[in-house]
Amino acid sequence: MKRPIVKYGDPVLRAKGKRIAHVDERIRALASDMLETMHGANGVGLAAQQVGEALQLTVLDVSAVEDRPSTLKLNGEEVDPATAMPLILLNPELTLGEEIVSGTEGCLSFPEINAEIDRALSVVARAETLGGEQVEIEASGLLARALQHEVDHLNGILFTDRMSSVAKASLGSRLKRLQKETQGR
Ligand SMILES: [Zn+2]
Repeated sequence: MKRPIVKYGDPVLRAKGKRIAHVDERIRALASDMLETMHGANGVGLAAQQVGEALQLTVLDVSAVEDRPSTLKLNGEEVDPATAMPLILLNPELTLGEEIVSGTEGCLSFPEINAEIDRALSVVARAETLGGEQVEIEASGLLARALQHEVDHLNGILFTDRMSSVAKASLGSRLKRLQKETQGR
């Protein structure tokens, strides 16, 4: 079932996600709904906060994006990122690589807003799967960027927080309008 995507201005986007200690039917249903919601919106990632749940749960799928490549190692083994998608990650923790790259980012909670954001080129993520297994993900390219964006969401951090002050100022009135629309609902 698709769920409505929470937009900028809703306080749940600022909430730090609670660790998921136990996977039950509710968590499985939430993950499944998040996948459907992300795919329906043509997104590459979605965090639980974006459907109104402050939990450490995110889904990702970069397989539809052809012009921005990714690399992926799953538990130390190189795999084709497309075949490993979608990813459903619980309680993820990131270690960032040192090299920084700038790249265009959008967010489903900020319709039609894009900005150049500096991110680590590569990351290592340790997370749990729905089945309770530990997984280690080494990623670069778009997947590394998406992981950083989503793990930020899980900690109540938004991509606007990562924008240069110039970029943020130039989007100021659009951000205010979006916030007002969301809060007026
Ligand atoms: Zn986002």
